Amino acid sequence: MSVSKPSIQHKNTDGLAAIMKSSIQNSTDIDKSRFVVLAVDDNLNLLYSTQAIVEAKGYQCLIADGGEAGLNILQSTAVDILLLDLEMPEIDGFAVLRKIHELQLDTDVIVVSGKTTFDSAAEVFRNGAIDFLPKPYATERLVATLDNIAHKRELKNHIRQMQNQLEDSERRYRFIVSYSPDIIYMIDHKGFFTFINDRITDLLGFLPQDLIGEHFSALIHEDDLPQAEHVFNERRTGDRASQNIELRLKSADPLVESKPFESSSIVIELCSMGIYDTDQSGTPYLGTYGVARDISDRKKDQEMIRFQAYHDLLTRLPNRELFLDRLNLSISQAERNNNMLAVLFLDMDGFKFINDSLGHVIGDNLLQRVAFRLQKTLRETDTVSRIGGDEFNILIPELQTQEEAGLVAQKILDAFSQPILLDQHEITISFSIGISLYPNDAGSIDELIKNADMAMYHIKGRGKNGYEYFSDHMQSIYQHRHSIEQDIRKALDNQQFEAYYQPQFNVFNEEIVGLEALIRWHHPDKGLITPDHFIPIAEEIGLISDIGLYMLEAGCKQLRDWLDQGKEPVKLSINVSAFQLAEQDFDLVVCELVNRYRLPRHLLVLEITETALMQDMEMILPRLIHLTQCGIGISIDDFGVGYSSLSYLQTLPLDVLKIDRSFLSCIGDDCDKACIIKAIVAMARELKLDVVVEGVETDQQLNFIKDIGCNIVQGFLLGRPLPEQEISKLLTLSSGVKAG
Ligand code: C2E
Ligand code: CA
Ligand code: CA
Repeated sequence: MSVSKPSIQHKNTDGLAAIMKSSIQNSTDIDKSRFVVLAVDDNLNLLYSTQAIVEAKGYQCLIADGGEAGLNILQSTAVDILLLDLEMPEIDGFAVLRKIHELQLDTDVIVVSGKTTFDSAAEVFRNGAIDFLPKPYATERLVATLDNIAHKRELKNHIRQMQNQLEDSERRYRFIVSYSPDIIYMIDHKGFFTFINDRITDLLGFLPQDLIGEHFSALIHEDDLPQAEHVFNERRTGDRASQNIELRLKSADPLVESKPFESSSIVIELCSMGIYDTDQSGTPYLGTYGVARDISDRKKDQEMIRFQAYHDLLTRLPNRELFLDRLNLSISQAERNNNMLAVLFLDMDGFKFINDSLGHVIGDNLLQRVAFRLQKTLRETDTVSRIGGDEFNILIPELQTQEEAGLVAQKILDAFSQPILLDQHEITISFSIGISLYPNDAGSIDELIKNADMAMYHIKGRGKNGYEYFSDHMQSIYQHRHSIEQDIRKALDNQQFEAYYQPQFNVFNEEIVGLEALIRWHHPDKGLITPDHFIPIAEEIGLISDIGLYMLEAGCKQLRDWLDQGKEPVKLSINVSAFQLAEQDFDLVVCELVNRYRLPRHLLVLEITETALMQDMEMILPRLIHLTQCGIGISIDDFGVGYSSLSYLQTLPLDVLKIDRSFLSCIGDDCDKACIIKAIVAMARELKLDVVVEGVETDQQLNFIKDIGCNIVQGFLLGRPLPEQEISKLLTLSSGVKAG
């Protein structure tokens, strides 16, 4: 039989008896020399002969002639057995017995007396003697009596020792059980607690005595009751019993308002075993006992890890993984229920600007607030997911009409019409939202998201802050863009790029004082392409640095050629993208080129737009300073369209300020832009910067520029960007050439 007795036993008396039985098998085992016998008598002869007999049997034997001497020895020495005469002068045997009783001595008394009446014998036993030996006695009788008492004392000693040991071990077990980090319990066959340790108080606030006699269901979380029913009725033992079962236990305190989120239950891992009494016939199953460990912390950690795997940690929104999972599920549902679903692709307008100007901490806070507002705006069945940076995807399942998706998009736009207050900044944000629908726009997950993305780009290109449904023609725009991407990659290898040069003139003598290098792309199929059509794409796909380097090298080489041909030296301006500036060794690369082509340093000018300068001033500034130290000029391009802040100009090592051509658009129409140009020119003069006005197309504009005292101009009126050979011709005649 595999069933066993319970290993936790309260009083194992069977065990004790067995140990005793085996340890005292017969009296010959007794070491008599450990027993001290005292003979007390007023008859000295009798004392000596008794001593001789007793010692001959192996006992120690002391003698005392009379009651007083006897009591003295009893009080100073541990006497096991006393052979006591009754009739003695002064202190008689009864007085000695009373004294022994009074002192509670552990001495067994055998009264040895000539008084053999029934009364005196009875009196003797009443006073605590355990045996009576009439005088004169036979030696064998004395010895047998002594042996018998010695035997009993030995047995008594054993029992006392065993009991002490048992008490010790029970104390130890109690300690271990009480202070166990686990809950240890016993339950009877009807499911009522018969034992539970103190751990339950620490973990759940119940006192063990309150639970004993209660049904286990008082402790189990309602949802886990069916499983508990099974575990607490465990009939198996050993390895086959219930192992590592997870259950939730309820706490004694219900939720209190002050701690509304603190869990009122714990998770335990339980091992439970059946208890059987094999001695009993009839119903040997007594109940179960078990050990339960609090694994709430482990569970929380596991949940946290799970959460992290499927959520964005900053906003706590579902991440891309979870979004795809839900989208997958919703597609199956839409198929079954014959309805639609929508994927919204959201991109925050101008987030990069906020992040750069107010810092990443505010940027992060803003994303959290945006995530919260998005979730609040949508229904619980919708999924909002942050898929990176300032981009969010939203899944709207179970749509009946496609207009519903647009209504949701509009609701989102409306929700953000109110600014977000962050750290004393009132931040107004907007979204560009692209919508694609299943099954109308796409059949697969990837395509749905891609199409929503495409629709988002479309609305971004048309002024932002709005939504747009995906349509097939976007596909062709996308494909066009994609093919340009591919072509740019090839163009560098196949030398399809060329530098054109546009002259800059002194307005007063119309001499060429500088050139701006402008890139042109000779596309094998599409012909000549101007930079606005491919520079932004090249920046996005990470090819602008290669293109920029090509232009820097081409420009430097050209300048060297012209100098070698004996041309009048002119300044050459080369456009630099923000992405080039962000490169760590940009300044070193430029200085190296200038050295390699042995150029007079003041001839090279780098044109950088305001926005490129502002992207990360701390990072860029040391590079700009190094370039200026090398003698290279810095020109601020398209001035006036970006930050339009003159204050930072003082902190930068600048040489030239190029006023954006948009300021010239209404010259002569009496608009306030003329005043702005005047102010900029005055300010630049103050800062000792050269001013170049670009985009001059009419005489009226040229006259205006002359009037305000600005001396360098660039524009179609005086000269278009031209290939090297044609510009070379102009330069040959540069000493006397007149434009026009
Ligand atoms: P940008 O630096 O402002 O260059 C001046 C642009 O204005 C040139 O256009 C030029 O052809 C045009 N322009 C000059 N005069 C007039 C005028 O009187 N009227 C009008 N309407 N336009 C005029 P382009 O060559 O098409 O270049 C456009 C932009 O592409 C440039 O603007 C510059 O930002 C960028 N770009 C050109 N070449 C490079 C380059 O090598 N590297 C980088 N990173 N960007 C370049
Ligand atoms: Ca420029
Ligand atoms: Ca410009």
